[in-house]
Amino acid sequence: MALERTFSIIKPDATRRNLTGAINKKFEDAGLRIVAQKRIHLTKAQAGAFYAVHAERPFYDELCEFMASAPIVAQVLEGEGAIAKNREVMGATNPADADAGTIRAEFAESVGENSVHGSDAPDTAAEEIAYFFSGLELVG
Ligand code: UDP
Ligand code: MG
Repeated sequence: MALERTFSIIKPDATRRNLTGAINKKFEDAGLRIVAQKRIHLTKAQAGAFYAVHAERPFYDELCEFMASAPIVAQVLEGEGAIAKNREVMGATNPADADAGTIRAEFAESVGENSVHGSDAPDTAAEEIAYFFSGLELVG
């Protein structure tokens, strides 16, 4: 399997509860390396642009409000098969469906406030990394 990079967000429900370190430990224990990371507070418009693919979904407005409600930690994770591996470590979108030991099973509060975002494919990973990080910030 190839060395890959994926984009990750530790969401406002998790930063609010001081869970950044606990979540990062899950990534590192799974063999994912945090090669870029910054804590930022998105505006609602910036959150809306990031989640534009969901603009027609009924939860879109609430999702954008939530993502702008407190700081997030934006990250690039690197590893063998990092995109799929991160999705495994995250668990299902709805924490009620997430496997035991996953981030969402342990930490998520609801289907909306579910602690982490992770890219779902190579093209979205590349787009999402470029939305948050410049090449100079990706130190490997
Ligand atoms: N979401 C929500 N209600 C839903 C489905 C999704 O509030 O019924 C939110 C949730 O925060 C989720 C995000 O929208 O993480 C993006 O949805 P997606 O289906 O892409 O899930 P993910 O890729 O994050 O597992
Ligand atoms: Mg998604």
